[in-house]
Amino acid sequence: MLLRHTPKEITERSALTINPAKTCQPIGAMYASLGIHGCLPHSHGSQGCCAYHRSTLTRHYKEPISAATSSFTEGASVFGGSANMMQAITNIFTVYDPEIIAVHTTCLSETIGDDLKQIKKKAQKEGKIPEGKDMISASTPSYVGSHVTGFSNMVTSMAGLAESTGKKNGKVNIIPGWVEPCDMEEIKRVSKLIGVKSIVFPDTSGVLNGPLSGEYKMFPEGGTTVAELKSSGDSTGTLALGEWCSADAARFLDKTHKVPCKVLDMPFGLKATDRFIDALRTIAGVTVPDELANERGQLVDLISDMHQYLYHKKVALVGDPDQLISMTEFLVSIDMCPVHIVTGTMGKKFEKRIREITKDMPFEVNVKAKGDMFLLHQWIKNEPVDLIIGNTYCKYIARDEDIPYVRWGFPILDRQGHQYFPTVCYKGGLRLLEKILGVIMDRQDRDATEQKFELVL
Ligand code: SF4
Repeated sequence: MLLRHTPKEITERSALTINPAKTCQPIGAMYASLGIHGCLPHSHGSQGCCAYHRSTLTRHYKEPISAATSSFTEGASVFGGSANMMQAITNIFTVYDPEIIAVHTTCLSETIGDDLKQIKKKAQKEGKIPEGKDMISASTPSYVGSHVTGFSNMVTSMAGLAESTGKKNGKVNIIPGWVEPCDMEEIKRVSKLIGVKSIVFPDTSGVLNGPLSGEYKMFPEGGTTVAELKSSGDSTGTLALGEWCSADAARFLDKTHKVPCKVLDMPFGLKATDRFIDALRTIAGVTVPDELANERGQLVDLISDMHQYLYHKKVALVGDPDQLISMTEFLVSIDMCPVHIVTGTMGKKFEKRIREITKDMPFEVNVKAKGDMFLLHQWIKNEPVDLIIGNTYCKYIARDEDIPYVRWGFPILDRQGHQYFPTVCYKGGLRLLEKILGVIMDRQDRDATEQKFELVL
């Protein structure tokens, strides 16, 4: 009974968040930065902020996260952190020699008003950024937005590296959004199968799910190279997966370099994956390869086999907008009923989209953007569900209310493996279904009488 003080009665709250369904902007910016090859993320603020960002990512990805900090003390907090940043640039290139530094701000440096673009200009003028190296920056104040906003802001800064030479490179930019490294790998595999040459950015595959080789590499093999990011201005188009995580960068490329963009939902589940595959297939001007058609058929087969066990099961969901939109659509398409949906990220558009997707469900949906886990718990107390899908923090609600629970999203701090098993595209759909049915059947077995305890499904 860890959340025993959560009352069933819901009262209006406008200035109080209890058990947030989000984390701070720089964590998203740092995760995005790790998707550039040879990049050292830098947190422009206090050591405490940087330690928190790194430890959250380390706990989720189970990998050491290298990042630098401006190490603000009292002086920088009062007079600004420009001198600290200048010193940091010199130290970073001298000691660690990255290809690029990706700097994000924090609450403190934003409140002071440090101007990173100005600092970069000064550093360039003073020759602190070596020839052929670069620095990008994103404004990520945590008192607005969420980790999703921070991710999007840093990805847009990456797009700022794009150049147009006037000659197209024959590639398509794919902005995968905040998905696991294995999901990025899966997106690349699928694009390659269809025959689309792509620049995927950011790309944390091979960075945060690399092999244990016995040799420490400060900058692992993976990640989008700076050369690829520069070349993204010459691509024939951009597919942005997710309005919240990826659309801003895609629209920036469209506006600045005339690279036309299409914003799609993240390819979780059957329908969203179909749309993604169709967009790739159209770009390549081919029919869907047999291998992918087969994978789709397997997912449809599993859906039909499992349908009797999942039919009209009520689900509570918490997570980030792009993921939740596709997951809600997936659950509705297999006749499950997502009845309570919360994201900590803002956006009335999110609520509208969820209502559209769930409009034909037999139950009314509760949906809240900029909501919190406390509200989700209250909704569950008022209308119990058969399943919870969400991040690690759902385990408290799942335990208190005795509800089957699937870990999915960010962060997952108390389990391993999520960085290796994709949940995007058709293969990922199989994985999601396996996880969902597994917990539902485990509960059925646990509660079955001896007479009803079945060996065969
Ligand atoms: S002070 Fe702001 S940036 Fe730093 S950890 Fe807290 S919320 Fe994040």
